[in-house]
Amino acid sequence: MKLAEFVNSPKGRPIAITFAVLAVLGTGYLLYSAAGGSDAVISSTDRVFICSETGKTFRYTLKVGDMTPVKSPHSGKETGYEPERCYWTADGKPKPEPTYVLLNAAVGKPGPTFCQDCKRLVVGLNPPAGAGEQPPPTEQEYKARGGRNR
Ligand SMILES: [Zn+2]
Repeated sequence: MKLAEFVNSPKGRPIAITFAVLAVLGTGYLLYSAAGGSDAVISSTDRVFICSETGKTFRYTLKVGDMTPVKSPHSGKETGYEPERCYWTADGKPKPEPTYVLLNAAVGKPGPTFCQDCKRLVVGLNPPAGAGEQPPPTEQEYKARGGRNR
């Protein structure tokens, strides 16, 4: 039996359709993972750093053997730290573009860190903001609660 005859035969047709669907899904998956993969590569090598001396951010690609803090183009010294991202606005709403915040702990300073934009508490591995979530306390709220987080 030739392939064309098999495909058009009652037995062959469902199999041919199954293969066609699998081929489309497979191609889609490959394209999807290729796009996701390249994105992941960018974010793992080309990262945002914040200069502890000037408070300015810059992008830097970590190379093998690099130590943090990395050299900051703003100060010309090793003052580039990986910041936390704050996704809150001053009135307690999530925002799409983060504010980069240098944690006190990253530079050996005592005490909690508050975002320079929204004045809210920022912690290590800062959780992203979500609609309907309780925003972190502002510096004022934090102090009024006697230093407790919530
Ligand atoms: Zn903020």
